[in-house]
Amino acid sequence: MKKTILLLIVALLGTSMAKAQHFDQYFVNKNLRINYLHIGNLSSETLTIDHFTAGGEWSGTREYLIEPNHYGDIMIEVFDSLSNKLIYSRSYSCLFTEYRTTEKGELEIASMEESVNIPFPKQTVRLKFTSYDRRRVGAVLSESYFNPAVTPVQKAHKQYNVMNLHKGGKPDKAIDILFIPDGYAKSDAKLLKHDMKRFASYVMNCSPYKEMKKKVNIRAIKGYSEESGITQPQNNIYRKTLINCAYNALDLDRYLMCLGVWHLNDVADDAPYDAIVIICNSEKYGGGGIYNFYCTVYNHGQYPDYVIVHEMGHLIGGLADEYYTSEVTVQDFYPADIEPVEPNVTTLVDFKSKWLDMLEPGTPIPTPTCDKNDPGFDRLGAYEGGGYVSKGVYRPAQHCTMHQIRYDDFCPVCKKTLEEVIDYYSK
Ligand SMILES: [Zn+2]
Repeated sequence: MKKTILLLIVALLGTSMAKAQHFDQYFVNKNLRINYLHIGNLSSETLTIDHFTAGGEWSGTREYLIEPNHYGDIMIEVFDSLSNKLIYSRSYSCLFTEYRTTEKGELEIASMEESVNIPFPKQTVRLKFTSYDRRRVGAVLSESYFNPAVTPVQKAHKQYNVMNLHKGGKPDKAIDILFIPDGYAKSDAKLLKHDMKRFASYVMNCSPYKEMKKKVNIRAIKGYSEESGITQPQNNIYRKTLINCAYNALDLDRYLMCLGVWHLNDVADDAPYDAIVIICNSEKYGGGGIYNFYCTVYNHGQYPDYVIVHEMGHLIGGLADEYYTSEVTVQDFYPADIEPVEPNVTTLVDFKSKWLDMLEPGTPIPTPTCDKNDPGFDRLGAYEGGGYVSKGVYRPAQHCTMHQIRYDDFCPVCKKTLEEVIDYYSK
């Protein structure tokens, strides 16, 4: 028995050392941010690296350097140039991919800023960017080398104070959520402080964050804008703000986005971050969330608690919208013969890869809906309607924070996805 335990300990030590060695073998404990332009339209797409920035300490996982989830449209892969071994990868999405699916994006060329962080390599690496379409067909966008000895790297400078709103664990043992305020002038200082605390409490009082509070950090950048409020180009309202957020992204009135992504990441650099949540000082309804990119919320709304956790569902969980009625940015978003990548919607093409194993035996598929007073209202199933369309796409439950305005009500599938993401950042 003793011998078994000893062997087990040795084996465990061996694995943890091997994993740690892997990070230390290839990387130093620092962020390398790749800032690039994503250019094109529906028929063509290119990526041009503009500059590199060396940031603060590496806040992502050190144990799982190869991306387990492929929820995003873009994949960056980092290869050791000598051995050609894959040493880091990350999947994420971007506004550009959404732009390509709009009417304008069919013909007009757009150029958008994007940034992605990787751990800072010790030796020369090959950087490979691949873009995936809705059919999951990949196209290589760019391949280049980064040599830490010769490639020019800009240094990030600390500019802002940081507020600690919730302390869970060390940055590499927790998901680091960073709030960035936009449209708060110096005269709004009291409101800024109040709002950052308020939004942090919305996150921490919602499942699964509240049960996993030791694995969650929330900080905020204390950065003021020159003017109060947020730009609304469609109403001819322009404001000089910290990171220049604006409504009417992709010509959608309530789509609130930040187009200066390089500057956004420079501002974020003053604190460790895995996920950026932008809080906008505005009375106009709006928001948006893109997987592993950033999300926005506005501060004056009727359901701010719901809005922030819903948008963070897109941001960190890669969750799809389970509703199918509102005005949306996309046309024919889910091909009927392909299983979507998002964990909480299915076309039933490959339902086994989704939540089939979580269903009670005998659950009919598709699952018929019932009244909210019916005992079957909470039943997990595959309900038709979701991902913006009423036919051919199925959602796991009749009620969920990704479906209706319901705070702290993620369905079991969405909750499990978020738990797995938080665990991933905590290992
Ligand atoms: Zn759900």
